[in-house]
Amino acid sequence: MNESAAGAAGGDQPVLEAVGVSQHFTGKSSTGHRTKIKAVRNVSLRLFRRQIIAIVGESGSGKTTLARLFSLLHQPTEGEIRFQGVPVDRSRRGRSAYYAEVQLIFQDPFGSLNQLKPLRHIIGRAVRLHTEARSRSAVRERVHEALEKVSLTPAEDYAERYPSDLSGGQRQRVAIARALSMNPAVLLADEPTSMLDASIRLDVLNLLRDLRDQESLAMLYITHDIASARYLSDLIAVMYGGEIVEQAPTEELVAAPLHPYTRLLLESAPNPEHYKDNGAAGAGSLDDEDEAEPVDVAVDLPGCRFAARCPQAMNLCADRNPPLVDVGGRSVACWLHLTDDARPNRHEGVP
Ligand code: SF4
Repeated sequence: MNESAAGAAGGDQPVLEAVGVSQHFTGKSSTGHRTKIKAVRNVSLRLFRRQIIAIVGESGSGKTTLARLFSLLHQPTEGEIRFQGVPVDRSRRGRSAYYAEVQLIFQDPFGSLNQLKPLRHIIGRAVRLHTEARSRSAVRERVHEALEKVSLTPAEDYAERYPSDLSGGQRQRVAIARALSMNPAVLLADEPTSMLDASIRLDVLNLLRDLRDQESLAMLYITHDIASARYLSDLIAVMYGGEIVEQAPTEELVAAPLHPYTRLLLESAPNPEHYKDNGAAGAGSLDDEDEAEPVDVAVDLPGCRFAARCPQAMNLCADRNPPLVDVGGRSVACWLHLTDDARPNRHEGVP
């Protein structure tokens, strides 16, 4: 991976890191045979403090499985997840310590909040579980502070409300406030705006961006929507077929995408000016029903996994999967960007 790009927004020590992680499952192929599904293949990623990395890809790309590996919901088949340079301890105590530092924000703010309790209870419970605050006044203070950070003010008033009293955008703010109440180092946000109205998506993205700056948070933002990734992130990692196929600082990647799949994603994305105006997302994205094309990660093809859809595919692409290599300070996995010397067979299928 491109370490220099990854470290551009933060310090030298990554706060969260995937080191050569793979996740294999056993499933059924399209012919009904049991087969090994390689949902994530040898992915390395380094996230630094005050940095937002967007992991972008369509359904089946492996981005959600990668998010689950970072969430400790799966144990990697190969490789490891490290927090502040140390492999994560998966014991009960170790996981509890990890979740105090790495907080998750889900797609569905309604489903992730207890509808029967007021916000002071929902956020207060997280404070009691994961911080030193014990007295009623100390917990109340943390709850109010968290609500203020997400602009749900006056905090005393919102603390007494129930999730059902709130709009979708306000519920997502509560989910973020609950995460913040534990003073985490990292937010792991899995499609946090996909269930919100277009008009309030931008509010939530702006809030996340402000939190990066004001709280020095690091963030992994998982999305199918490259337009929102462009709006929010410092660095984009594009996934296809379980692998990172391109990774670069956001503006560099958008200005000059190297991988044909990144180009396809960008061509399908809404105009960023339109996005800024009203938070619209998804229009023309590859997850739209009529555009979606499932990625068959179950089949371990020998060649580039994008070859069947790639307008620039060469003979070589059907035989060998390109490695992720550094190209001018960025990372890309495509034979088009490897020099002839680096290709396995200089005379095979080179245009
Ligand atoms: Fe296209 Fe070949 Fe590059 Fe794959 S390696 S993206 S098929 S040109």
